[in-house]
Amino acid sequence: MGGKKDDDDIWGLLAGLFIGAVGVAILSSLANPKCPNCKNPIKKGEPFCPVCGTLLEWK
Ligand SMILES: [Zn+2]
Repeated sequence: MGGKKDDDDIWGLLAGLFIGAVGVAILSSLANPKCPNCKNPIKKGEPFCPVCGTLLEWK
């Protein structure tokens, strides 16, 4: 029957969703950088964290 093929479709779909979720997470982390010390969202290019004062390095 077609059971094997259906399973493959489900795994392909799950893999696609997983890769998509990881991609979104990476993109959102790039768009919304976080302080390495207190994990609060910070603006890219700020010289230091406005919350805890940690010096930020932008490469
Ligand atoms: Zn901070």
